[in-house]
Amino acid sequence: RGDSAIADRTVDSVCPYCGVGCQLTYHLKDDEILHVSGRDGPSNHNRLCVKGRFGFDYPRHPARLTTPLIRKPGVPKGLDPDFDPADPTTHFREASWEEALDLAAQGLVDLKTAHGPQALAGFGSAKCSNEEAWLFQKLVRTGFGSNHVDHCTRLCHASSVAALMECIGSGAVTASFLQAAQADLVILTGCNPAVNHPVAATFFKQAAKRGTRLVIIDPRGQALGAHAHKTLRFTPGADVALFNAMLNVIVTEDLVDHDYIAAHTEGFAALAEHVRDLTPEAMAASCGVPAEDIREVARLYATAERAMIFWGMGISQHVHGTDNARCLISLALACGHTGRPGTGLHPLRGQNNVQGASDAGLIPMVLPDYQPVGDAQLRAAFEELWSTPLDDTPGLTVVEIMDAIRDGVVRGMYILGENPAMSDPDLDHARASLAALEHLVVQDLFVTETAQFADVILPASAWPEKDGTVTNTNRQVQLGRQATPLPGEARVDWWIIQEIARRFGLAWDYGHPREVFAEMKRGMPSLDHISWERLEREGSVTYPCPADDAPGADVVFGDAFPTASGRARFSPTLPLPPDEPIDGDYPTVLTTGRQLEHWHTGSMTRRARVLDDLEPEAVASLAPGELRRLRLAPGEPLTITTRRGHITLKTRVDPGMAEGMVFVPFCYAEAAANILTNPALDPYGKIPEFKYAACRLSPAGAA
Ligand code: SF4
Repeated sequence: RGDSAIADRTVDSVCPYCGVGCQLTYHLKDDEILHVSGRDGPSNHNRLCVKGRFGFDYPRHPARLTTPLIRKPGVPKGLDPDFDPADPTTHFREASWEEALDLAAQGLVDLKTAHGPQALAGFGSAKCSNEEAWLFQKLVRTGFGSNHVDHCTRLCHASSVAALMECIGSGAVTASFLQAAQADLVILTGCNPAVNHPVAATFFKQAAKRGTRLVIIDPRGQALGAHAHKTLRFTPGADVALFNAMLNVIVTEDLVDHDYIAAHTEGFAALAEHVRDLTPEAMAASCGVPAEDIREVARLYATAERAMIFWGMGISQHVHGTDNARCLISLALACGHTGRPGTGLHPLRGQNNVQGASDAGLIPMVLPDYQPVGDAQLRAAFEELWSTPLDDTPGLTVVEIMDAIRDGVVRGMYILGENPAMSDPDLDHARASLAALEHLVVQDLFVTETAQFADVILPASAWPEKDGTVTNTNRQVQLGRQATPLPGEARVDWWIIQEIARRFGLAWDYGHPREVFAEMKRGMPSLDHISWERLEREGSVTYPCPADDAPGADVVFGDAFPTASGRARFSPTLPLPPDEPIDGDYPTVLTTGRQLEHWHTGSMTRRARVLDDLEPEAVASLAPGELRRLRLAPGEPLTITTRRGHITLKTRVDPGMAEGMVFVPFCYAEAAANILTNPALDPYGKIPEFKYAACRLSPAGAA
């Protein structure tokens, strides 16, 4: 609108991007957002990063979907380089809502009738509000009739959740990142908060300035390293060896908290025996860290009065991701570093509502609040709530669904806000699976890469266009409010899900997300004492919350853990190699992730003008020495090849990169990093190994 426009109203909401969950205010004139400012939310204290501050104009991008679309007869499914998302009428025809919904639902109903409930699956999204996630998993479970429902948590922290559920009985953080201010020592491992949780990073910097010692454990260097007391750069994929060596030091030097272990844990003797021979000297070669450095960090952590561990997808996105998280949990339990202010375990959640969408049951093996689908008693409560019998078999996960399509088991899908044609590993396989679907319904803001495989596309709502709650990494349930009208024929997502459900014969009659939230409270004890009205008043309430007028618990499990025995459990682990170790043909480690300016597959941020101007094209980050070896200057094109395919993109020099390693962000469709990645799964969390694939680098044209 130009600098001269002055806002005529404001609307308070929450940032739609990362799991920090910054509260913000939209400043509008004539229903258009002019700018965004930070509010004094519990997790941001008025701060915003570049995404929250400038990434607000994507809903008005020229390619925004404003009417339902139906694939034209004879147009093949898949990515067509000539397709222009701003003019989808070359491949799709516009349709009325009635026609599109009827066709969308009928295709799914027909497949269920012909092949049974197992023929259908659904992907919701961490972009969904809690209410949308609840409705979506309810539709799959009660309408489709299976548990084949998943979302991007499977690609993010599923292994962390698996380990946390196994060891401490709860998949959420035990303490918020605000507690870092009270910690004497903070370990950051497998995470890069300055890039991926930028406002959380400011709290870490502030803590360091006030005396908290930061220890960074990661194969890559990072901006927070400038504030760190100590950094351990280890060999990619050797996490378990390194953490076991730290446990060895803590056990053999008797730095454990005996009282805590006796009062709150079980299985310590087995862990102590397990790590007895895994000394720093024995592990140093495999993890690439001198033994004395391992000893120093282990002692620092164990002898700190209050210490926390934060981790990200560098921990979780491995075939040993669950083992990595088990190790971190063992470290905290051995030293008694949970349950008190300034202590805790905190997997930094990636998307704005990955915590809430998981809590709401957008997971194939558990009902809302992580209640296993195989537990007859717990399942019965939901059968009563929803007045329908439920499948007792855990459903398929994201990558398993892609395999099941190839095997002819899953034949139809409903995908809401997810973009597996960009986010799944081994994209050629994933895209072939999407193309093989007999019926695909996609609900999104744009004709995403995934929508280009759809039979029917339903135009959805952007975050500023709807009311809803989201839950951030700190377990804070927060309220987002509608600020702008829906464009054209686009509709709010809960309404669209309900219309599909009605066409499955379900008698749904929700009139507003607050009615959905009220139903959620009946099935989710985690929401006790949190009401829509309270959220309207207070904006944010942390769960668990003990009373209607009390604040929620920032630190949990001081007295007992939510396990059958009330105790946490040590889970010993053995170092495992990456699924695809480097070798003579593929001698370099490929690792993938996010950039500060872009978010996930880029479907929103690449359509936000300022953000895409800042980072408009795909780059591969390499150490200076690696570029010299390739005889490439920064900016020159590089081809990266793995056993699954190749991409070409520009190089960027990054002194934080290790030699023998390359980093590629996964948000660029024109050089899609996931063409390259390995679909091998962690056996517990079923998460792919995005953080390690063997690759070969060559100047473009010389591959
Ligand atoms: Fe949004 Fe995360 Fe940035 Fe906060 S830190 S403004 S939640 S992207």
